[in-house]
Amino acid sequence: MRILLVEDDIALAEGIRTALKPEGYTVDWLQDGSSALHALSTESFELAILDLGLPRMDGLQVLKHLRAAANPVPVLVLTARDATSDRIAGLDAGADDYLVKPFDVAELKARLRALLRRSFNRPQPMLEYRGITLDPVSQSVSYQGQPVNLPRKEFLLLHELLAQPGRVLTRDKLQQALYGWGEELESNALEVHVHHLRKKFFSELIRTVRGVGYLVDK
Ligand code: CA
Repeated sequence: MRILLVEDDIALAEGIRTALKPEGYTVDWLQDGSSALHALSTESFELAILDLGLPRMDGLQVLKHLRAAANPVPVLVLTARDATSDRIAGLDAGADDYLVKPFDVAELKARLRALLRRSFNRPQPMLEYRGITLDPVSQSVSYQGQPVNLPRKEFLLLHELLAQPGRVLTRDKLQQALYGWGEELESNALEVHVHHLRKKFFSELIRTVRGVGYLVDK
């Protein structure tokens, strides 16, 4: 579960990251609105936590740009004070939920869970590919009718690939989807996951495009 946290209060951001890590979230962190808009437009996150008062571009502008571009990423807004006008402006601009500072991390976690549940409950097609069925909602996979238990990174990789058959996914894009920024990464980690997936399903499942990345054929 990859989350983008956009917050210029360093102590608060570090507190949030520390609290969310044990929950299994990968939390990438940015401190200004314009970098956040760029990241959300070019990379995939399951959710964004967005402070409204930010340098370079405020959170409301980020939201408005995202929604104008039909970007559906769920956004939880953080507002500095309990000003009704801020909350309404946030919701009007397309926020899915908001929290007023200061807040309890337990409440933040509960809100995130609810948001993710809601976003997974939007109709998402089952992915089916040559005997493999991947259910993005229950995060389960089966092959020829038999359940297959995949470690999280392998599941994420298979999901990325099956969602876009016929399209070459670059190593960079896949690594970001699996690991987020700054996570220490063995240089051959991606190859190892690919190798495991080929073994668990079939060897022609994933094609290597040398020097570029991987794809599953259409
Ligand atoms: Ca702020």
